[in-house]
Amino acid sequence: MANAFMQEAIERAVENVRSGRGGPFAAVVVKEGRIIAAGANCVTSTNDPTAHAEVTAIREACRILGTFELTGCEIYTSCEPCPMCLGAIYNHFASGDRKTIASGIERANACTLARGLHGWKKNKLDIPSSGKKGGTK
Ligand SMILES: [Zn+2]
Repeated sequence: MANAFMQEAIERAVENVRSGRGGPFAAVVVKEGRIIAAGANCVTSTNDPTAHAEVTAIREACRILGTFELTGCEIYTSCEPCPMCLGAIYNHFASGDRKTIASGIERANACTLARGLHGWKKNKLDIPSSGKKGGTK
């Protein structure tokens, strides 16, 4: 199932570029096995330097759920988050929740992050290549 969510994030990232809204970055927030919110990079189209994919997905998920905490949710992103997005992910998802990250569209190489007693641990997640060419962050 994680592969399907990651594939959705990657496809949204490609579509974001085609539409001209922003860079090749998208994210989906998943709760109880289904996508509840999605976001894509719209920095250039909104002149908002904080409108990265992960942040827009987190904003949308919080708006839909009516809360600032995303306990029980997972996030899947099309690239490795920048420090701003990583901070937002750390702050809005419960410590036991998984944060799943793909490191690029072309490589479609993904990992999951899980926070345990000794900090964040990266686990590789095999995602089939989308076959689409795209830039990385
Ligand atoms: Zn970011």
